[in-house]
Amino acid sequence: MHNKWQHSSRDSLRGASECNVFFKTNKFTDNGFKIKIPLEFARLVNKVDPNDPLLIQVISHKAIAQSGFKSSPLEDENFSPVDGLIHKYNNRVLLIASRSCAIHCQYCFRQNFDYAGHDAISNWGSISDYIDDNKQINEVILSGGDPLSLGDNKIKWLINEIENIAHIKTIRIHTRTAVVVPSRITTELAETLNNTSLNVVLVFHTNHPQELTNEFKESLKKLSNLTLLNQSVLLKGVNDAGDTLVNLSKKLFSFGILPYYLHMLDRVGGSEAFLVTDNSAIELHEHLKRELSGYLVPRLVRDENFEFKSWLGLQD
Ligand code: SF4
Repeated sequence: MHNKWQHSSRDSLRGASECNVFFKTNKFTDNGFKIKIPLEFARLVNKVDPNDPLLIQVISHKAIAQSGFKSSPLEDENFSPVDGLIHKYNNRVLLIASRSCAIHCQYCFRQNFDYAGHDAISNWGSISDYIDDNKQINEVILSGGDPLSLGDNKIKWLINEIENIAHIKTIRIHTRTAVVVPSRITTELAETLNNTSLNVVLVFHTNHPQELTNEFKESLKKLSNLTLLNQSVLLKGVNDAGDTLVNLSKKLFSFGILPYYLHMLDRVGGSEAFLVTDNSAIELHEHLKRELSGYLVPRLVRDENFEFKSWLGLQD
């Protein structure tokens, strides 16, 4: 038997032709990008606005010749000592828990990742041996794809296994699925997250206040004693405006979520249209610092863990 969220995933718009029917147009083309849009997300789009900030994240864009854009900009494949695990930073590892997502984002830095063999659940024996041997690791990050595209039983199993490794104290789960398909936060999933002895950090991926629905807000009420954070990607035409980012931070806070990271675009081929210049990013961040209390200002970063200032070569 399938849950509501699994039906949502099955009923998503797939490909340009289904989008053209839904949005009553003929302008969408695939251009080699595998369009997938959950109906909940599609219904949030303003159909008469061709530049709707939600829509342009998930449709294909014409290629723009620009240097520095790569197939796999973060080179995750080079940091994988065991299939399904990426180890870049001393105290934490990232698991490729799933190769699927509820939605396909045109700017996704992992859209060309070679998932073959990188399945953390199938390779769990080798992964748990690796973590056992590296006692400095105290945090496991579930990523993908989107880890919440796994069923509740698999997530429960994986969290139990991680809980059994004595030196792991924290589990961090990155998800956009829970935002775009709020029914994904099922009672069973909430029980698993609420009852584990691990510290649980949920990092939602939201880019625009229009994505934050009352249904999502309601679904968060099932969660207790978890740390809820958000990360956004700074995207031209989506959220590169001071008012939009201020409103996003305020709305996240009203949902009980703290803005955590504002990522510079990872330069993956096909995402060129979303590039925001460094100077514009700095100006926007200064605007946020003027308009918001410090705890509502996300850290402006490039890649996963490089402070923006460090990346610029500046000193505090
Ligand atoms: S991993 Fe995240 S950014 Fe990439 S397609 Fe999935 S939901 Fe979008």
